[in-house]
Amino acid sequence: MHGLVTEIQRFSLHDGPGIRTTVFLKGCNMQCGWCHNPETISARPSLCYYPDRCIGCGRCVLACPHQAHQMKGTLHVIDRSLCRACGRCAAVCPTEALLMAGTVMTVDEVMREVRQDRVYYDESGGGVTLSGGEVLCQPAFARALIEACCAEGFAVALETNLNAPPAVVADLAQKADLVMFDIKLIDHGAHHKETGAELTTVLENARMLADMGISLIVRTPLIPGVTDQAENVAGIAAFAAKLASVRYYELLNFNPLGASKYASLDLPYAFKDSRPLSPGKLSHLKAVAEAAGITVKVN
Ligand code: SF4
Ligand code: SF4
Repeated sequence: MHGLVTEIQRFSLHDGPGIRTTVFLKGCNMQCGWCHNPETISARPSLCYYPDRCIGCGRCVLACPHQAHQMKGTLHVIDRSLCRACGRCAAVCPTEALLMAGTVMTVDEVMREVRQDRVYYDESGGGVTLSGGEVLCQPAFARALIEACCAEGFAVALETNLNAPPAVVADLAQKADLVMFDIKLIDHGAHHKETGAELTTVLENARMLADMGISLIVRTPLIPGVTDQAENVAGIAAFAAKLASVRYYELLNFNPLGASKYASLDLPYAFKDSRPLSPGKLSHLKAVAEAAGITVKVN
């Protein structure tokens, strides 16, 4: 069994309780314009190019079997329409100006990485988090990873958008110790416009997981001008407060660090001038959410 993995991040402190290893699976089924991991969205390997690291050595020009790279004087031009994501150029680039996001890995290969921090999981109450992209886009691989983790006694958390058929969600979630999921917008039309997905699917899956007694954390990324209105936060908090197995509701401040990633992928980024919310606005939104009678955390 193998899957496409963007990254394995050790010593993670923000993807669930304790010290964790987070396995980022590649491919997502929503299209949120603010995603701060855009290299994880495509379901195939993605070529990232950081021009400030390029020394113009021309090795990539020679390595590419599809003539996607050209040196025009000192200018390095990439024709992405020719790229077949084979990774040969990134393999020969001496400065990491070219990097491939997405590696095919077996379950055993992932577990070899995960196993290294067993002692930290035990001491901190941590474990393994499967994230994305969207973990539900590779359900068979995710299932095999969860089973392998369970067999070794590692706690497993899922970070998901819950945008999948209920049977797929239930199958993965029932083996996890914790499911962290986003509700980005509580208005159905706005949710579809901003994410390309139906809010009903997310909400029905959330209710199903609560009925199954699965421990839940509900999260909202606070995107300036999109999700950070008080009415939106209040509506999501009210929904979350009714989920019997919810631990808390978490507000995630806008992360502006994605801009360079969009540039490296030649993708447009509508939020390059946006900034994190001020402490005052965060406090206000926290109070708004708490009024629904739920514990609220801000990160
Ligand atoms: S990933 Fe492969 S096809 Fe794409 S530019 Fe590099 S060498 Fe060429
Ligand atoms: S191999 Fe790397 S450093 Fe050399 S020209 Fe290509 S991108 Fe630039």
